[in-house]
Amino acid sequence: MTINIAIVGAGPAGYYTAEAAQKQWGADVRIDLIDRLPTPYGLIRAGVAPDHQSIKAVTKRYEATNLAPGTRLVGNVELGRDVSVEELLGLYDAVVLSVGAPLDKPIGIPGDDLPGVVGSAAFVGWYNGHPDHAGLAVDLSHHGAAIIGNGNVAIDCARVLAKTVDELSTTDIADHALKTLAASAVRDVHIIGRRGPHQASFTTKEAGELGHLVRAQPIVKPGDLPPEAEDAALDPGHRKMVNHLRSFAGTERGDKPVTINFEFFRRPVAVEGHGKAERLIVETTRLENGQAVGTGELHAIPCGLVIACIGYRTAAIPGTAYAERLGRFPTDDAGRIGPALYASGWARRGPSGTIGTNRPDGFSVIEAMLADGITASGKAGGQGLDALLASRGVKATDFSSWRKIEAAEVAAARAGAPREKLVDVARMLDIAG
Ligand code: NAP
Repeated sequence: MTINIAIVGAGPAGYYTAEAAQKQWGADVRIDLIDRLPTPYGLIRAGVAPDHQSIKAVTKRYEATNLAPGTRLVGNVELGRDVSVEELLGLYDAVVLSVGAPLDKPIGIPGDDLPGVVGSAAFVGWYNGHPDHAGLAVDLSHHGAAIIGNGNVAIDCARVLAKTVDELSTTDIADHALKTLAASAVRDVHIIGRRGPHQASFTTKEAGELGHLVRAQPIVKPGDLPPEAEDAALDPGHRKMVNHLRSFAGTERGDKPVTINFEFFRRPVAVEGHGKAERLIVETTRLENGQAVGTGELHAIPCGLVIACIGYRTAAIPGTAYAERLGRFPTDDAGRIGPALYASGWARRGPSGTIGTNRPDGFSVIEAMLADGITASGKAGGQGLDALLASRGVKATDFSSWRKIEAAEVAAARAGAPREKLVDVARMLDIAG
């Protein structure tokens, strides 16, 4: 008998969990990687910035995991719509929720519902051609754009807004986004941090890249930088990142038409405008015990687009425990949600870390299964799922379907680009046959 495991979510967390299960049980495990899209790889495909193609090479590893005997991709199947967690627990010996955190954390300030205010899940999904967000109305007719947050997602969004069409056309940025960006009037990008340079969570590479853009100049206000001697307390990686910010201090627009303005010690308090975003109101802050405290001093940042890059939430699943305050499933340290039910990746620990952080996550879930005595119990596994889906008229796709979609995307690519992503699931299913 083989152990049957269902992993929901074919992104990095799902693949590393599958890899760990293969390492543990070899030929004695059957794994179904279930995804609501016919396309695998989750955030590698729809989150990693299009101009960071080298990061996407990790999909070769996931492909090898998926092609190992006994492992299947079951695409176009949505948990909660096509099958429930309870049903999966009846079919498989263990179920792992690796569904990520696809929802934007709300900003929660007056005016955040105005047209022109978007979350980074939507904006990143738009330029990356995610089917959920390909139709997002992105208005780049105003000279200003405000990006809230001091993490890598904020930098990704700023860079995409600031790059030239030539810099982006050889990436896999979605064609609809490239066309909109080509006509963009955005000239002043503002990155709003409620705390200071020492508290920013940008990484060195991401901060450094801003210094090498063809038409954009990053600008840091010298007064926002702490005394240089205080950098000594930072870890070496963070110190290098802050060095980049120091190199942007006191610079002027020069002859580059676009500026990327770091607005440290500013917290967003409102979005204002007549029927759409026209300005972001921010309050100057100071640090107290490491936290941002408002000073009452307000400024208006003119902008027609506000992108909140302030973190994500996992979507709740009816009938499954959910920690509202944390925005994810409540788990113990090993990723247990309940009997035979586990979580890995962002669905377990929130939206943090790098792609590689998901690997130990996956391995610890398999260790927890071992400790919990998960063994082959003769459950129906994939055959049972296939029968259930067939009875509901759900047309699941597999890895060979993905390969057809991938071939069509490669064939449709712009000159020099790796692929042109299909953004319509119905079209994907047509191509998959
Ligand atoms: P992040 O690094 O956690 O940054 C979120 C930012 O939002 C923080 O600066 C936070 O400020 C700020 N924030 C949160 N709530 C706020 C509020 N209500 N008002 C104003 N500011 C608020 O998250 P992320 O940038 O979304 O990235 C998610 C994960 O993906 C991270 O682990 C990131 O490194 C990773 N990622 C990596 C790459 C890459 O390596 N190239 C690219 C993209 C994403 P405080 O610090 O004050 O809370």
